[in-house]
Amino acid sequence: MQPIHTFNVSPALPPHLEKLRQLAYNIHWDWNTEAKDLFRRLDLDLWESSHHNPVLMLGTISQTRLQEVVEDEGFLAQMDRAARQLDEYLQDGTWYGRNRTQDSECYAYFSAEFGLVDCLPIYSGGLGVLAGDHLKSASDLGLPLVGVGLLYQQGYFAQYLNPDGWQQERYPINDFYNMPLHLERNADGSELHIAVPYPGRNVYARVWRVQVGRNPLYLLDTNIEPNNPYDHDITDQLYGGDIDMRIHQEIMLGIGGVLMLKALGYKVTAYHMNEGHSAFLTLERMRGLIQEEGLDYATARQVVISSNIFTTHTPVPAGIDLFPPDKVLYYLGHYADIFGLSKDQFLGLGRENTGDLTAPFSMAVLALKMATFANGVAQLHGVVSREMFQGLWRNLPEDEVPITAITNGVHARSCVAKSTQELYDRYLGPTWSSAPTDHQLWERVEAIPDEELWRNHERCKVEMIVAVREHLVKHLRDRGASPQEIASSQEVLDPSTLTIGFARRFATYKRATLWMRDIERIKRILTAKDRKVQFVIAGKAHPKDIPGKELIRDINHFIQEHGAEKQVVFVPNYDIHIARLLVAGSDVWLNTPRRPREASGTSGMKAAMNGLLNLSVLDGWWDEADYVRTGWAIGHGESYDDPHYQDEVEANAFYELLEKEVVPLFYHRDPDGLPRSWTAKMKAAIRYNCPFFNTARMVREYATKAYFPASDRYHTLTVNNYTPARELAQWKVNLLDRWFNIKIANVDIATGSDVQVNQNIAVKAQVDLANLLPEDVQVELYQGAVDASGEIVNGIAQEMECQGRDQQGYSIYTGTITYTTSGLQGLSLRVLPKHTLLSSPHEPRVIMWAS
Ligand SMILES: *Cc1c(COP(=O)(O)O)cnc(C)c1O
Repeated sequence: MQPIHTFNVSPALPPHLEKLRQLAYNIHWDWNTEAKDLFRRLDLDLWESSHHNPVLMLGTISQTRLQEVVEDEGFLAQMDRAARQLDEYLQDGTWYGRNRTQDSECYAYFSAEFGLVDCLPIYSGGLGVLAGDHLKSASDLGLPLVGVGLLYQQGYFAQYLNPDGWQQERYPINDFYNMPLHLERNADGSELHIAVPYPGRNVYARVWRVQVGRNPLYLLDTNIEPNNPYDHDITDQLYGGDIDMRIHQEIMLGIGGVLMLKALGYKVTAYHMNEGHSAFLTLERMRGLIQEEGLDYATARQVVISSNIFTTHTPVPAGIDLFPPDKVLYYLGHYADIFGLSKDQFLGLGRENTGDLTAPFSMAVLALKMATFANGVAQLHGVVSREMFQGLWRNLPEDEVPITAITNGVHARSCVAKSTQELYDRYLGPTWSSAPTDHQLWERVEAIPDEELWRNHERCKVEMIVAVREHLVKHLRDRGASPQEIASSQEVLDPSTLTIGFARRFATYKRATLWMRDIERIKRILTAKDRKVQFVIAGKAHPKDIPGKELIRDINHFIQEHGAEKQVVFVPNYDIHIARLLVAGSDVWLNTPRRPREASGTSGMKAAMNGLLNLSVLDGWWDEADYVRTGWAIGHGESYDDPHYQDEVEANAFYELLEKEVVPLFYHRDPDGLPRSWTAKMKAAIRYNCPFFNTARMVREYATKAYFPASDRYHTLTVNNYTPARELAQWKVNLLDRWFNIKIANVDIATGSDVQVNQNIAVKAQVDLANLLPEDVQVELYQGAVDASGEIVNGIAQEMECQGRDQQGYSIYTGTITYTTSGLQGLSLRVLPKHTLLSSPHEPRVIMWAS
């Protein structure tokens, strides 16, 4: 039955409790223990059953309970405290306020998923949680940043297992009206709708806002009239549907996102694409500049490039969105007309090799071509990304490919257990959650008494075990399991046993079953007398990933076949809440990806912040962590051609470490019963990982390296009705016209081939600049050791000086080099573009070498 009218009914709160509403609708409560405790205190059962959703709680709580708390002075005092803390948080001075004087700027952060709190299930895994943590830290730091995403009606699926251990999916419908979401409205009170062009029609979307501390996150929702049924479903499922649906979603995210920000009145000065899903935003930005600001294509493109930022998250080509050219033309061909490009020129925006007319359209390539700053998410991932995308900068040495790395982090106040936060507050002071690496407070970690640290950890472990048991009971009840099964699930896990946590997406490269590769050996380890080990495991496989689901089943079969129910526990429906329990209550955090496929990984960072020791393959973030003092490395970061052999070697390394190091260290107790060598290592884990692998550091890095420069460049290029942008664009057109006629005609080296270390060698070159001016280029000497294949490796560039022109019309360049090490050394010369408004000499993606 369709209703003839709908109402948005909001909770009726007694006037004394109005502050609860304010608190509920700003998800700052997620990282403010006072507010969270308040909701727990209001109604613990409802808090749990609502998936920690205070808005739903306020809507369903009984009036009797509300009357009770109105008369509870303790409750009211706590409510006032929480409300005051929120006010202070919103008004306090910030890092941004102290470090930046630009007063008209706004950064837009686009992501297909956001993992903020478990009652907003619009994320699938690490990428989303990272985006959520990015927003939380942007708020803590006071950045003028807005998030842009999609509000999925069904979000990502909920997982449950059938009796055989096979993953089943459920798609609970999100009830937006009972979530911490504000519907954006026009001045007259009507819903704000935006119209996004799709072939033959407009698709309309309304806009919901999540208030993340100081910052808004805007989410588009197409499930409205007058959209047709297909278009209703554009924002239905995260990563659901076929390739056409994927394109529909990415158009809504990128293009709809830009249109939405305009409708909301934002003047954005820097755009950050978190992964390539949102890269269509570059097209819409250019269209706006051409049609609304009257710019030509080259100028529009220049403005867009100069203020776009791209973060890549995948180290494998298969992880990148690729679309067939005909589909791209069907959905987006009108942009080619607006830009004045041929079809192939347009498709070339998403192709590494623009001459390859059959290549698919890559969202990552589009993002890279349209960005001034690009980065991977850990140092090793930076290396892998430079290799993967070096084809975009032809003839540029790989180590100079302008894709840098900003190592991921996690939001400390969101992932550290409450009691542990209080411990750190007490011994380190409350600024620990954002204090930089060199801050002296980190030395005070040593001052935490071993006993206190250990007892606190034991408490976290018990909490985790109790919560896991309750979770299992609920899961088994829902599945209709037998009373015996339900009863025995209340006895799983033992608080005194060494507990290994493993929770992540069940993608096959993460090798979730590596630990059970040698069944006999792992059984010996599990059952060793007085030195048992137990595993707590969680994670979802993508619904279409059959091999991933098989891994989940293999684990459950292992449990059943070997009667390991109490010692190996698979916790269904991994989400932010489960993650927080596991990273606080395990002892060791296990990570066994196939290097280098884990771009960063962040669950291990959360674990380390809670004092867990990581036991991990040297991949992602762990490769750059202090893995000797704060955990253990499986293997040495070597690579293998044969994946089976690699599994064999690394499984053995894992067993060896577990038997010879981890288990003995854990079970070694001092006479007072404390594992003091273990707690010493826990302290190292906290001290050396907390300050660096957190999003306070990460977002500061994005701000100073990417947002500030991009936003400044945007301002510089757009003054006087875009005059500098026009000049730069024209300069580039002229440069590229002549570039390939540049010739390094003659190079004079003042010595023979035998030189000594530290000897000065003068070099003089004649360069035909092809009618470019000396200030348009930089001519560089490039020197370094020569490897076996005759290539200069890790070369160093050094700019030469222009001495004017000689009689033949060549520009004369001079410079001096010295070699500081002996051996076979090479020298070359090269020419790069140069302009003060370019973000880097590599932006035009041309280079000319001496031949
Ligand atoms: C932190 C987190 C992740 C990411 O963990 P990885 O180590 O990167 O696999 C995934 N899902 C949830 C729910 C998380 O909290």
